[in-house]
Amino acid sequence: MTRLQQRLEEALANLPEALRTSLTPIINTEFKGVISKEQFQSLQADSQLSDKELRLALLPLAAAFSVAPISNFYVGAIARGLTGNLYFGANMEYNDVQLGQTIHAEQSAISHAWIQGETGISDITINFSPCGHCRQFMNELTTADSLMVQLPERNEKSLQEYLPESFGPKDLGIEGGLLAPLSHNLALETESPLLRKALEAANRSHAPYSHNLSGIALEMESGEVYYGMYAENAAFNPSLPPLQVALVHANMSREDILTVKSAALVEDHKGAISHLAITQSTLEALNPDVTLEYASL
Ligand SMILES: [Zn+2]
Repeated sequence: MTRLQQRLEEALANLPEALRTSLTPIINTEFKGVISKEQFQSLQADSQLSDKELRLALLPLAAAFSVAPISNFYVGAIARGLTGNLYFGANMEYNDVQLGQTIHAEQSAISHAWIQGETGISDITINFSPCGHCRQFMNELTTADSLMVQLPERNEKSLQEYLPESFGPKDLGIEGGLLAPLSHNLALETESPLLRKALEAANRSHAPYSHNLSGIALEMESGEVYYGMYAENAAFNPSLPPLQVALVHANMSREDILTVKSAALVEDHKGAISHLAITQSTLEALNPDVTLEYASL
C-alpha cells in the first residue's frame, strides 16, 4: 500500500460512520482528489452533514496528499469550482530546492481545478488560516471579489475580508484574471509529444505582466504525462511557475513526484523573464537524471 493510500485510510477511519461508509467506495477507486457535485450531494444526503460540515470533514483527506519533507506540516485545501465540483489540494515541498519553489495547499487546490477546466472558484475550505502569500495568490482569480473562505471553527468570510484594501490585477490595468479561459495561439512545429503537450499548456497560461506565456509537460517513470501552465500574479512573487502546476497535476494523480523522468518546457521568447534555469535546477533536485527539452517561441 502506498503512503498516500495509507494516509487516506487513516483519515477515513476517523470520519463519522455514515460518511465513512458512503465515502469509502469513492476513495478506494484510485481517488484523484476530485469529488463531483453529484458525489458531494449524495455524500451530504448519506451523512446528514451540512455543506460546510461536509467540506470540513473532508479536509484530512485533502491533507493526505501533502508532500512535506521539510516542515512535516500537512495542509489541505478544497476548492469548489463554478461547476460545483470540488478539487483537493495539499502543500508540496522538496528537499534541496529553495523555499520559493514550494507550493501551498490553496495554490494546489486552485491549480488542480484549473487543470480540470474550471473557470472560477466559488469557495475554498482550508485546515489552517491562509497565509499572506495565498491571500494574494487568490486575489488574482476571476472570482476574487466573490470568493468565500471557510476554516474550521470559524464563520465563513470573503477573501476580501481576509485581504482588506487589496492590490490586484485591476491596479495594473488587467481585466479578467486567473482561470479565465485563454487560448494564445502559440504554434510550434515539433515531432516531440512532450513539447506538443507543453505547447498546449502554454496556450492556456496566465501571464499578463511579463508576457512569458509558458507551459510544461512531465513524463513520469509510469509513462503517464502531466502538464502545467504558468499562473502569474500581479504582486509577482506569489506567481506559480508552470513546473509547480504540473507537479500538482502529477501529485493529485497519485504519482510520486521523484519519479519524473523527462520534461519539456515551452515559453514565448517575447516575455520579459524565463523559467528555464530554475525549472532545470528544481527538476534535477527531484531526479538528477531527468532530461529537459526546451523551446523558446
Ligand atoms: Zn499559503
